[in-house]
Parts: sequence; structure tokens; C-alpha cells
Amino acid sequence: MEEKVNKERFIPIDLPSGCITYDGIDPKSIKIRPLTAGDEVLLAEINASNMSRNLLTLIDRILIGVKPELLTKGDTTYIMLWEMINSYTNMYPVDAVCESCFRRISIQVDLGTIDSIPLAKDFIQPREVKLSEGSVNLRLLTLGDEDATYIYSKENESGYLYTYACSIVDGEAASPMRLKLIRLANMSTQDFAKIKDFQIEHAHGPDMVAPYVCPKCKEEGKLVVPFRFDKFV
Ligand SMILES: [Zn+2]
Repeated sequence: MEEKVNKERFIPIDLPSGCITYDGIDPKSIKIRPLTAGDEVLLAEINASNMSRNLLTLIDRILIGVKPELLTKGDTTYIMLWEMINSYTNMYPVDAVCESCFRRISIQVDLGTIDSIPLAKDFIQPREVKLSEGSVNLRLLTLGDEDATYIYSKENESGYLYTYACSIVDGEAASPMRLKLIRLANMSTQDFAKIKDFQIEHAHGPDMVAPYVCPKCKEEGKLVVPFRFDKFV
């Protein structure tokens, strides 16, 4: 395993979460370095079954200041976008349909033009969300939750509810995941929607929308970049 050597290669990075969800972590202490060929192995071999595990291993090597399992989804995407730009290139090939002339086009979008949405500075978690009966305390999902969900889904029918069970915080009297899953399974779809909406409402990180100029009709447009971590190499 590669040590975090070459400390001088690490440079500061401002994460979209502002480290608000990482208790006691100074945002100025977060540093990152570009990938090496050794790191690229983890990306080259990424697939649906090892995605979260490979990302945890990779980010542990390239990031200093916060444990990778604590990273929000927005920060994780931001880190991988940073790596794409700084370890490879900011030009990313996309096949799309032009929104003006509706013809199929193959273009290069500039990843450097993608905006990053910060997490609101006054965000605090856990946050109480009112349900039709009672309430629930929620936190943002993390890369660690994604990995835990994958492990769970290997031995169970589905990890769908498990992911959202991870977001439920019940403080001192923390109930086992089994009870959180039963609570979710019996919940109305309206109340469950409120639990899902919490993640959407506080989504942060790259918005993955980039401008383009159509090579066929020359019109300018915007498209959602189908950014995949395994497309780097
Ligand atoms: Zn066009």
C-alpha cells in the first residue's frame, strides 16, 4: 500500500460542503494530490460491485484531512472531478443530442466550466423533519453509507431502504438498523418522500451542467455531463 508520501504534492482544496458536516474538521486542513499510475489501477478496475470500496481506498490515498467514509456525495463527486481535471484533462468527450437541432453530436465539454454548489453555511445536522406522525432526525448521506449499503445489498434483497435508514439519526437511544428499516418499510410513501427530499434539498457539489457549441447548427446550449469515474482511463 502506498504511503501518503510526497507531502509536498498535496495542495489545499475547498470542498463544497465547507466541512460543515465533518465535526471539528478545519476546512483549511483539507489537501489533495493528483493521481499516480498506481492510483489509476483502482479506477481502471472499477465496476458496480467495487465502486464504493475502490473510491474509499483511492480517496484515502489522495486526500488529507478527513476520513473518506465521512465524505458527502457532493464532496466525493467534487474530488473526482478535481482529479479528472488535474490528473488528466478538463476536456471530456460526450455523445449527446443537440437541444437546438436535435441531431446527434459528439463533442468535448470543458469540465472547468461546471459550477459547484456549496452547502448552505448555516446548515446543521441532524435536522428534524416533521412527518405525518411525529418526526425524524436526518443527516446527509456519505460515501461510507454507500459502501455499507452495497455490503448490505449483497446479503439482502435490496439496499434501497437501507441507504435512507443510514440517514436517520436518533441520538442517545440509537436504534438498530433493523428497527430503522422496519420503520421505513411501514412508512407512507408521502413521509418517505420527505426523507428522500432532505438529501435533494441539501445537495451540493458539481451541478454537472456544461455549456457546449453544436458542431452542426452552431447554436450554444447546455447539457448534463454523464460523468463516470471509470471513464477517466
Ligand atoms: Zn445543433
